[in-house]
Amino acid sequence: MNSVASGLLALASAGDFSSLEERAAPLFDCQSCGACCSYSAEWPRFSTEDDAQLDRIPQDYVAADEAGMRCDGVRCSALSGEVGKSTICGIYEVRPDVCRACMPGGDDCLMARKAHGLPAP
Ligand code: SF4
Ligand code: SF4
Repeated sequence: MNSVASGLLALASAGDFSSLEERAAPLFDCQSCGACCSYSAEWPRFSTEDDAQLDRIPQDYVAADEAGMRCDGVRCSALSGEVGKSTICGIYEVRPDVCRACMPGGDDCLMARKAHGLPAP
């Protein structure tokens, strides 16, 4: 067993799952990815937000039909940077619920990463 595997096993046997997740997180570093934010104009749609939540999203980033985020092609207008290198969400604190639900390593994440040719171990 290599040292990483034995370290993870030690953490797991100690019941330290938060540390285990932190060890796995760099495989899906959102700040060097952004694939799900540049996958489909149908992706960052509003769903379960209430009016107070939606009011906090700057209007410049909202689509003309007000049903979701404004996209340029498949890319959300709130995304800055280069997908697969360095990206940031310009409205992270007030991002839509669908963005919060996209978990690094989840099915949606893996699909978006694959579409951008990014590793999805
Ligand atoms: S595709 Fe996955 S790793 Fe990339 S930004 Fe979205 S959730 Fe994060
Ligand atoms: S609002 Fe932020 S997290 Fe959501 S798709 Fe746009 S850039 Fe990504």
